[in-house]
Amino acid sequence: MSTEIVYLNGEFMPLGDARIPVLDRGFIFGDGVYEVIPVYSRRPFRLAEHLRRLQRSLDAIRLANPMSDAEWERLAQEIVARNQGEDQYVYLQVTRGVARRDHAFPQNVKPTVFVMSSPLTTPSRETVENGIKGITATDFRWLRCDVKSTSLLANCLMRQLALDVGAVEVVMFRDGYLTEGSASNVFVVKNGTLLATPKNHLVLPGITYDVVLELAAAAGIPAEVREIPEHEARAAEEIWITSSTKEILAVTTLDEKPVGDGKPGPVFRRIYQAYQDYKRTVMRQAA
Ligand code: PMP
Repeated sequence: MSTEIVYLNGEFMPLGDARIPVLDRGFIFGDGVYEVIPVYSRRPFRLAEHLRRLQRSLDAIRLANPMSDAEWERLAQEIVARNQGEDQYVYLQVTRGVARRDHAFPQNVKPTVFVMSSPLTTPSRETVENGIKGITATDFRWLRCDVKSTSLLANCLMRQLALDVGAVEVVMFRDGYLTEGSASNVFVVKNGTLLATPKNHLVLPGITYDVVLELAAAAGIPAEVREIPEHEARAAEEIWITSSTKEILAVTTLDEKPVGDGKPGPVFRRIYQAYQDYKRTVMRQAA
């Protein structure tokens, strides 16, 4: 039995007791947005940045933020305190609330707010050292991939394509250019230079993406933010995926072909280590 405690519309309760009405627009339309915030040693990592992105997503779907940043912060701390484990990840979701099924936005309806926290298991040493299998696919998602929307059907279909062939993530291309993964941003290394896709409507502005570019700058690793043609990505020395829960992982085979020499590359190793060091420093400062 799960002992997880969740928050739903002002109340804390066991996960198994949390209920929403079937007419919630999150259920009916996927009309909502969410965030996933990693928590290390019970301290949320880059919380301000996650809350800024939440505001951006809410603005994009024209939904008023039901809480101030200070309230979100208190709530995140409370849910972490009520759950087990030093390392967790907080999932929060806001939907447009409960109303008779009609595409038009309902008037005077309170948004549904749901928050839970689960144990965070970052990738094992073995996964970090061996890298992961990736496949490629044509990005068929909508044109607002910058919104962290709960409408994730396309992302689920994408992820399953990878799982069906024993791979972990899908590297997507749209109109001949790299976009991102089903649940991650994608970086490539070419001639020792780190290449990152621009933050536009075709990708989620990743919090880990920002950290990686900051760490590369601090380490003096050359980086370029620009569109990456498919042929360049396929010929890359290194390919990585980044996300709040997976951190940074090297893609060591793409469509069954080795990336570079088939092992996580030297630039990956430096940034991966820098990320672990950075996490420790931030957590010490917060203590
Ligand atoms: N792109 C997509 C589609 C994602 O789902 C995620 C993970 N939420 C990311 C990128 C990475 O974002 P972050 O580093 O903020 O977790």
